[in-house]
Amino acid sequence: MLPLALLLEGAFFMAEPRFIRVTEIDSFFTCGHRWKLQQDGEIMQRESMPLIRGGAVHASREFAFNHWLGKEDKKTKGKWPSYDEMVLAGNRDFLMRAGGESAQYDDERGEYMLHTDSGEKVCESDVMAEIAPYVAFDRQFVLPHLAQLEIVACEERWELPLHDPELKDDYVITGKVDLLVREIGSGRLALHDLKTGSKIQQADADQRQQLAGYSAGIHAEYGEYPMHALGSPRFLKNKPKKLEPGAICEPFVMDAGTERERTLFGIYETVSTDRNEHDVQVFLARLKQMLLMVEANVFPPAASGFMSECYRCELAKRRKDRCAFAGTAGGKA
Ligand code: SF4
Repeated sequence: MLPLALLLEGAFFMAEPRFIRVTEIDSFFTCGHRWKLQQDGEIMQRESMPLIRGGAVHASREFAFNHWLGKEDKKTKGKWPSYDEMVLAGNRDFLMRAGGESAQYDDERGEYMLHTDSGEKVCESDVMAEIAPYVAFDRQFVLPHLAQLEIVACEERWELPLHDPELKDDYVITGKVDLLVREIGSGRLALHDLKTGSKIQQADADQRQQLAGYSAGIHAEYGEYPMHALGSPRFLKNKPKKLEPGAICEPFVMDAGTERERTLFGIYETVSTDRNEHDVQVFLARLKQMLLMVEANVFPPAASGFMSECYRCELAKRRKDRCAFAGTAGGKA
Protein backbone atom coordinates (compact mmCIF):
# COMPACT_ATOMS: atom_id res chain seq x y z
CA MET A 1 0.00 0.00 0.00
CA LEU A 2 1.26 3.49 -0.83
CA PRO A 3 2.09 5.87 2.06
CA LEU A 4 -0.67 8.46 2.72
CA ALA A 5 1.60 11.39 1.76
CA LEU A 6 2.14 9.93 -1.72
CA LEU A 7 -1.57 9.25 -2.17
CA LEU A 8 -2.31 12.87 -1.31
CA GLU A 9 0.37 14.05 -3.70
CA GLY A 10 -1.10 11.82 -6.41
CA ALA A 11 -4.55 13.21 -5.70
CA PHE A 12 -3.18 16.76 -5.99
CA PHE A 13 -1.74 16.16 -9.46
CA MET A 14 -4.87 14.35 -10.59
CA ALA A 15 -7.10 17.27 -9.62
CA GLU A 16 -8.55 19.04 -12.68
CA PRO A 17 -6.98 22.45 -13.31
CA ARG A 18 -9.24 25.50 -13.38
CA PHE A 19 -9.51 27.30 -16.71
CA ILE A 20 -9.25 31.10 -16.80
CA ARG A 21 -9.67 33.12 -19.98
CA VAL A 22 -6.94 35.72 -20.45
CA THR A 23 -9.57 38.46 -20.82
CA GLU A 24 -10.95 37.71 -17.34
CA ILE A 25 -7.93 39.21 -15.59
CA ASP A 26 -8.75 42.76 -16.65
CA SER A 27 -12.43 42.28 -15.86
CA PHE A 28 -11.54 40.93 -12.40
CA PHE A 29 -9.43 43.99 -11.60
CA THR A 30 -12.07 46.31 -13.08
CA CYS A 31 -14.68 44.89 -10.71
CA GLY A 32 -14.03 41.64 -8.85
CA HIS A 33 -17.57 41.69 -7.42
CA ARG A 34 -19.10 41.73 -10.89
CA TRP A 35 -16.67 39.04 -12.10
CA LYS A 36 -17.79 36.77 -9.24
CA LEU A 37 -21.50 37.33 -10.03
CA GLN A 38 -20.79 36.34 -13.64
CA GLN A 39 -18.87 33.23 -12.56
CA ASP A 40 -21.80 32.18 -10.38
CA GLY A 41 -24.24 32.74 -13.27
CA GLU A 42 -26.09 35.43 -11.31
CA ILE A 43 -25.68 37.96 -14.10
CA MET A 44 -25.33 37.31 -17.80
CA GLN A 45 -22.60 38.44 -20.12
CA ARG A 46 -23.28 42.01 -21.21
CA GLU A 47 -24.97 42.57 -24.55
CA SER A 48 -24.66 45.74 -26.61
CA MET A 49 -24.83 46.57 -30.31
CA PRO A 50 -21.00 46.87 -30.64
CA LEU A 51 -20.56 43.45 -28.97
CA ILE A 52 -23.29 41.82 -31.07
CA ARG A 53 -21.91 43.35 -34.28
CA GLY A 54 -18.31 42.40 -33.31
CA GLY A 55 -19.35 38.79 -32.63
CA ALA A 56 -21.17 38.49 -35.98
CA VAL A 57 -18.31 40.02 -38.01
CA HIS A 58 -15.81 37.82 -36.17
CA ALA A 59 -17.87 34.71 -36.97
CA SER A 60 -18.00 35.64 -40.67
CA ARG A 61 -14.20 36.16 -40.74
CA GLU A 62 -13.60 32.86 -38.97
CA PHE A 63 -15.86 31.09 -41.46
CA ALA A 64 -14.06 32.76 -44.41
CA PHE A 65 -10.57 31.82 -43.18
CA ASN A 66 -11.63 28.23 -42.42
CA HIS A 67 -13.13 28.02 -45.91
CA TRP A 68 -9.98 29.45 -47.53
CA LEU A 69 -7.68 27.18 -45.53
CA GLY A 70 -9.87 24.16 -46.42
CA LYS A 71 -10.30 23.33 -42.71
CA GLU A 72 -13.87 22.04 -43.12
CA ASP A 73 -13.67 20.85 -46.72
CA LYS A 74 -10.42 20.39 -48.67
CA LYS A 75 -12.22 21.32 -51.92
CA THR A 76 -12.63 24.94 -50.73
CA LYS A 77 -8.90 25.40 -50.03
CA GLY A 78 -7.59 28.58 -51.66
CA LYS A 79 -11.11 29.92 -52.38
CA TRP A 80 -13.00 32.61 -50.48
CA PRO A 81 -16.69 32.03 -49.72
CA SER A 82 -19.30 34.26 -51.32
CA TYR A 83 -20.49 37.48 -49.69
CA ASP A 84 -23.86 35.83 -48.93
CA GLU A 85 -22.21 32.84 -47.25
CA MET A 86 -20.19 35.16 -45.04
CA VAL A 87 -23.29 37.18 -44.07
CA LEU A 88 -25.02 33.89 -43.24
CA ALA A 89 -22.13 32.93 -40.92
CA GLY A 90 -22.59 36.29 -39.15
CA ASN A 91 -26.33 35.69 -38.95
CA ARG A 92 -25.77 32.28 -37.32
CA ASP A 93 -23.73 33.99 -34.61
CA PHE A 94 -26.57 36.45 -33.96
CA LEU A 95 -29.11 33.60 -33.79
CA MET A 96 -26.93 31.73 -31.31
CA ARG A 97 -26.94 34.80 -29.07
CA ALA A 98 -30.66 35.10 -29.69
CA GLY A 99 -31.08 31.69 -28.06
CA GLY A 100 -30.15 33.32 -24.74
CA GLU A 101 -32.29 34.82 -22.03
CA SER A 102 -32.20 38.32 -23.45
CA ALA A 103 -33.85 37.29 -26.74
CA GLN A 104 -37.44 37.38 -27.99
CA TYR A 105 -39.05 36.50 -31.30
CA ASP A 106 -41.05 39.41 -32.65
CA ASP A 107 -44.04 37.91 -34.53
CA GLU A 108 -44.99 41.20 -36.15
CA ARG A 109 -41.52 41.83 -37.57
CA GLY A 110 -40.82 38.15 -38.14
CA GLU A 111 -37.36 38.29 -36.63
CA TYR A 112 -35.44 37.90 -33.38
CA MET A 113 -34.78 40.81 -31.06
CA LEU A 114 -32.08 40.98 -28.40
CA HIS A 115 -32.46 43.18 -25.34
CA THR A 116 -29.24 44.90 -24.33
CA ASP A 117 -28.31 46.00 -20.81
CA SER A 118 -29.14 49.60 -21.62
CA GLY A 119 -32.71 48.60 -22.50
CA GLU A 120 -32.14 48.97 -26.27
CA LYS A 121 -33.76 46.38 -28.58
CA VAL A 122 -31.47 45.11 -31.30
CA CYS A 123 -33.15 43.32 -34.19
CA GLU A 124 -31.69 40.80 -36.59
CA SER A 125 -32.09 42.98 -39.72
CA ASP A 126 -30.27 45.93 -38.07
CA VAL A 127 -27.34 43.69 -37.13
CA MET A 128 -27.16 42.31 -40.68
CA ALA A 129 -27.19 45.88 -42.07
CA GLU A 130 -24.36 46.83 -39.66
CA ILE A 131 -22.14 43.90 -40.61
CA ALA A 132 -22.71 44.24 -44.39
CA PRO A 133 -19.88 46.77 -45.14
CA TYR A 134 -17.43 44.82 -42.93
CA VAL A 135 -18.19 41.59 -44.79
CA ALA A 136 -17.95 43.22 -48.23
CA PHE A 137 -14.65 45.00 -47.45
CA ASP A 138 -13.17 41.99 -45.60
CA ARG A 139 -13.99 39.64 -48.44
CA GLN A 140 -12.64 41.82 -51.24
CA PHE A 141 -9.59 43.38 -49.61
CA VAL A 142 -8.67 42.73 -45.96
CA LEU A 143 -8.73 38.93 -45.81
CA PRO A 144 -6.97 38.36 -49.18
CA HIS A 145 -4.30 40.88 -48.06
CA LEU A 146 -3.71 39.06 -44.75
CA ALA A 147 -3.75 35.68 -46.48
CA GLN A 148 -0.65 36.72 -48.47
CA LEU A 149 1.34 36.48 -45.24
CA GLU A 150 2.63 33.14 -44.00
CA ILE A 151 -0.26 31.91 -41.82
CA VAL A 152 0.91 30.03 -38.73
CA ALA A 153 -2.43 29.72 -36.92
CA CYS A 154 -5.95 30.98 -37.43
CA GLU A 155 -8.77 30.92 -34.86
CA GLU A 156 -6.87 28.54 -32.60
CA ARG A 157 -6.88 28.34 -28.83
CA TRP A 158 -3.66 28.49 -26.84
CA GLU A 159 -3.23 27.21 -23.29
CA LEU A 160 -0.74 28.23 -20.64
CA PRO A 161 -0.58 25.82 -17.65
CA LEU A 162 0.10 27.46 -14.30
CA HIS A 163 1.31 25.57 -11.26
CA ASP A 164 2.45 27.72 -8.34
CA PRO A 165 3.19 26.28 -4.87
CA GLU A 166 1.55 29.34 -3.26
CA LEU A 167 -1.76 28.59 -5.02
CA LYS A 168 -4.10 25.83 -3.83
CA ASP A 169 -5.22 24.86 -7.34
CA ASP A 170 -3.58 24.37 -10.70
CA TYR A 171 -4.77 26.62 -13.52
CA VAL A 172 -4.73 26.81 -17.29
CA ILE A 173 -4.86 30.28 -18.85
CA THR A 174 -6.52 30.23 -22.27
CA GLY A 175 -6.92 32.60 -25.19
CA LYS A 176 -7.79 32.47 -28.86
CA VAL A 177 -5.64 33.59 -31.77
CA ASP A 178 -7.48 35.56 -34.49
CA LEU A 179 -4.58 35.22 -36.89
CA LEU A 180 -0.91 34.43 -36.25
CA VAL A 181 1.42 35.05 -39.17
CA ARG A 182 5.12 35.15 -39.89
CA GLU A 183 5.98 38.56 -41.29
CA ILE A 184 7.60 38.64 -44.70
CA GLY A 185 11.04 40.25 -44.43
CA SER A 186 11.52 40.42 -40.65
CA GLY A 187 10.45 36.77 -40.17
CA ARG A 188 8.83 37.75 -36.84
CA LEU A 189 5.65 36.23 -35.53
CA ALA A 190 2.81 38.76 -35.61
CA LEU A 191 -0.47 38.27 -33.82
CA HIS A 192 -3.25 40.07 -35.71
CA ASP A 193 -6.28 41.11 -33.71
CA LEU A 194 -9.13 42.11 -36.04
CA LYS A 195 -11.58 44.49 -34.37
CA THR A 196 -14.76 46.20 -35.47
CA GLY A 197 -14.79 49.33 -33.32
CA SER A 198 -13.37 52.75 -34.03
CA LYS A 199 -9.74 53.28 -35.08
CA ILE A 200 -7.34 51.99 -32.43
CA GLN A 201 -4.96 54.65 -31.13
CA GLN A 202 -1.29 53.86 -30.49
CA ALA A 203 -1.51 54.85 -26.77
CA ASP A 204 -4.51 52.55 -26.31
CA ALA A 205 -2.69 49.62 -27.97
CA ASP A 206 0.43 50.23 -25.84
CA GLN A 207 -1.64 50.18 -22.63
CA ARG A 208 -3.69 47.02 -23.20
CA GLN A 209 -2.67 44.76 -20.31
CA GLN A 210 -4.09 41.58 -21.74
CA LEU A 211 -1.71 41.65 -24.73
CA ALA A 212 1.07 40.54 -22.34
CA GLY A 213 -1.12 37.51 -21.54
CA TYR A 214 -1.37 36.72 -25.24
CA SER A 215 2.43 37.11 -25.55
CA ALA A 216 2.87 34.64 -22.68
CA GLY A 217 0.51 32.16 -24.34
CA ILE A 218 2.15 32.42 -27.78
CA HIS A 219 5.61 32.15 -26.21
CA ALA A 220 4.53 28.96 -24.40
CA GLU A 221 3.26 27.44 -27.69
CA TYR A 222 5.81 28.75 -30.21
CA GLY A 223 8.86 29.78 -28.12
CA GLU A 224 8.75 33.39 -29.41
CA TYR A 225 7.19 36.66 -28.29
CA PRO A 226 4.99 37.97 -31.14
CA MET A 227 4.47 41.51 -32.31
CA HIS A 228 0.83 42.59 -31.88
CA ALA A 229 -1.00 44.14 -34.84
CA LEU A 230 -4.40 45.61 -33.98
CA GLY A 231 -6.59 46.56 -36.90
CA SER A 232 -10.12 47.71 -37.43
CA PRO A 233 -11.83 48.60 -40.72
CA ARG A 234 -13.71 51.91 -40.94
CA PHE A 235 -15.85 53.31 -43.71
CA LEU A 236 -15.98 56.83 -45.14
CA LYS A 237 -17.84 58.49 -47.99
CA ASN A 238 -14.67 60.26 -49.16
CA LYS A 239 -11.08 59.15 -49.43
CA PRO A 240 -9.13 60.46 -46.39
CA LYS A 241 -6.19 62.81 -47.04
CA LYS A 242 -3.88 61.07 -44.54
CA LEU A 243 -3.34 57.37 -43.93
CA GLU A 244 -0.97 55.28 -41.84
CA PRO A 245 1.87 53.65 -43.82
CA GLY A 246 0.79 50.25 -45.18
CA ALA A 247 -2.95 51.03 -44.80
CA ILE A 248 -5.49 49.52 -47.17
CA CYS A 249 -7.85 52.12 -48.65
CA GLU A 250 -10.20 50.91 -51.39
CA PRO A 251 -13.60 51.98 -52.71
CA PHE A 252 -16.38 49.40 -52.86
CA VAL A 253 -20.08 49.48 -53.70
CA MET A 254 -22.82 48.54 -51.23
CA ASP A 255 -26.39 47.54 -52.15
CA ALA A 256 -25.60 47.63 -55.87
CA GLY A 257 -28.66 47.99 -58.12
CA THR A 258 -30.97 49.17 -55.31
CA GLU A 259 -32.05 52.66 -54.33
CA ARG A 260 -29.61 52.45 -51.41
CA GLU A 261 -26.59 51.91 -53.71
CA ARG A 262 -23.55 53.86 -52.49
CA THR A 263 -19.78 53.80 -52.77
CA LEU A 264 -17.78 53.68 -49.55
CA PHE A 265 -14.06 53.91 -48.93
CA GLY A 266 -12.96 51.03 -46.72
CA ILE A 267 -9.86 51.80 -44.66
CA TYR A 268 -7.88 49.19 -42.77
CA GLU A 269 -4.97 50.46 -40.68
CA THR A 270 -3.06 48.46 -38.12
CA VAL A 271 -1.34 49.70 -34.98
CA SER A 272 1.63 47.66 -33.81
CA THR A 273 2.80 47.17 -30.27
CA ASP A 274 5.24 44.87 -28.48
CA ARG A 275 5.36 43.08 -25.14
CA ASN A 276 8.67 41.83 -23.77
CA GLU A 277 9.76 39.40 -21.06
CA HIS A 278 9.35 42.06 -18.35
CA ASP A 279 5.74 42.79 -19.44
CA VAL A 280 4.96 39.07 -19.33
CA GLN A 281 6.39 38.80 -15.80
CA VAL A 282 4.22 41.75 -14.70
CA PHE A 283 1.19 40.05 -16.26
CA LEU A 284 1.95 36.78 -14.45
CA ALA A 285 2.35 38.65 -11.15
CA ARG A 286 -1.08 40.31 -11.63
CA LEU A 287 -2.58 36.96 -12.54
CA LYS A 288 -1.18 35.36 -9.39
CA GLN A 289 -2.52 38.25 -7.31
CA MET A 290 -5.97 37.67 -8.82
CA LEU A 291 -5.86 33.91 -8.17
CA LEU A 292 -4.71 34.40 -4.56
CA MET A 293 -7.68 36.73 -4.04
CA VAL A 294 -10.10 34.30 -5.70
CA GLU A 295 -8.84 31.43 -3.52
CA ALA A 296 -9.23 33.67 -0.44
CA ASN A 297 -12.77 34.68 -1.55
CA VAL A 298 -11.79 38.32 -1.96
CA PHE A 299 -13.64 40.10 -4.77
CA PRO A 300 -12.89 43.84 -4.72
CA PRO A 301 -15.67 46.05 -6.13
CA ALA A 302 -15.01 48.72 -8.76
CA ALA A 303 -13.46 52.00 -7.66
CA SER A 304 -16.03 54.74 -7.18
CA GLY A 305 -16.01 58.32 -8.39
CA PHE A 306 -15.45 59.95 -11.75
CA MET A 307 -14.88 57.39 -14.55
CA SER A 308 -16.02 54.54 -12.28
CA GLU A 309 -16.94 51.31 -14.03
CA CYS A 310 -20.24 51.54 -12.11
CA TYR A 311 -21.47 54.23 -14.51
CA ARG A 312 -21.57 51.55 -17.25
CA CYS A 313 -22.90 48.77 -15.04
CA GLU A 314 -26.59 47.87 -15.10
CA LEU A 315 -26.31 46.71 -11.47
CA ALA A 316 -25.76 50.32 -10.42
CA LYS A 317 -29.17 51.22 -11.88
CA ARG A 318 -31.54 48.35 -11.19
CA ARG A 319 -33.71 49.20 -8.24
CA LYS A 320 -34.57 45.63 -7.23
CA ASP A 321 -31.13 44.02 -7.10
CA ARG A 322 -29.04 47.17 -7.07
CA CYS A 323 -25.40 46.49 -6.22
CA ALA A 324 -24.53 47.46 -2.66
CA PHE A 325 -21.09 48.65 -3.82
CA ALA A 326 -22.30 50.86 -6.70
CA GLY A 327 -19.85 53.77 -6.71
CA THR A 328 -21.21 57.07 -5.55
CA ALA A 329 -18.28 59.24 -4.45
CA GLY A 330 -18.39 62.37 -6.55
CA GLY A 331 -21.12 60.94 -8.78
CA LYS A 332 -24.65 59.61 -8.93
CA ALA A 333 -24.35 55.99 -10.02
S1 SF4 B 1 -22.27 48.50 -9.67
FE1 SF4 B 1 -20.07 48.87 -9.62
S2 SF4 B 1 -19.30 47.69 -7.88
FE2 SF4 B 1 -21.34 46.90 -8.36
S3 SF4 B 1 -21.02 45.18 -9.75
FE3 SF4 B 1 -21.33 46.97 -11.03
S4 SF4 B 1 -19.30 47.78 -11.44
FE4 SF4 B 1 -19.14 46.39 -9.70
